[in-house]
Amino acid sequence: MKTVSSPEKMSAVCFALKSKNQTIGFVPTMGALHEGHLTLVRAAKRHCDKVVVSIFVNPTQFGPNEDSKKYPRNLKKDCTLLKKEGADFIFLPSKISMYPEGYKTFIEAANLGKIMCGGSRPDHFRGVATIVAKLFNIIKPDIAFFGAKDFQQQAIIRKMVQDLNMDIKIITVPTVREKDGLAMSSRNAYLSGKERKAASVLYRSLRMAKGLIKNEETDPEVVISKIKTMIMKEKMFKIDYIEIRDLETLGKIRKIKGKTLIAFAAYIGKTRLIDNIIV
Ligand code: AMP
Repeated sequence: MKTVSSPEKMSAVCFALKSKNQTIGFVPTMGALHEGHLTLVRAAKRHCDKVVVSIFVNPTQFGPNEDSKKYPRNLKKDCTLLKKEGADFIFLPSKISMYPEGYKTFIEAANLGKIMCGGSRPDHFRGVATIVAKLFNIIKPDIAFFGAKDFQQQAIIRKMVQDLNMDIKIITVPTVREKDGLAMSSRNAYLSGKERKAASVLYRSLRMAKGLIKNEETDPEVVISKIKTMIMKEKMFKIDYIEIRDLETLGKIRKIKGKTLIAFAAYIGKTRLIDNIIV
């Protein structure tokens, strides 16, 4: 496994691989890796000849009240895990190489970036789309892998790839969960013991909602209200949003029919957790 820091060198490495007809699978991450990330790496290994994993805590996707410097980091452990999984390259660009002095250009996710998580994190998806586009331009992967845990993110990336004629296939990998159902996240490291225990209600509430819909509840407002009641029984939570939306367009729906997305974000203490389920 090789570590590459310079974008120019990474481009040259990928160009050389492609000229030998090797396919490139790409997994963008912010590090502090867990089983969720490693599942994406395994999927990339199954589909492609070579796997590039980037680790970059992207400052432009953090809001003014969020501190990218406080994001959990554990580079040594990340490298050990990726080596064990058989990743071929880790791309570790510096902040200054990605956003040099005078950097100006951003990609807007338009209304897709303003709803759901974009409601409380207004420039988040602008930062995500921009960094992913930059990484795609450097690496030029054949396939890029994203987690279903960040459902809105993969929807925005899919739309960007389509709208900007990028010749990259996107594969979305199902959410990897802890034994009690909590979606794995680098942010779970922020939770106290008590908060971690309470957090299991999040996935239980989604399962409960799935059950309601299976029993022919079709009113989104009824389902949302029951999820809210269940989560709020755990006194530590503050709900950011709970939404039921069309799986493809992320548009609001009046009646639940066919495949539908239920997604939420909730604060437990200072930690913001997200999760979703497709019903
Ligand atoms: P992050 O490092 O949080 O930016 O995540 C990097 C990639 O890993 C994104 O595509 C995430 O959706 C994905 N990911 C994070 N957590 C999980 C999980 N629990 N299951 C599946 N994919 C995940």
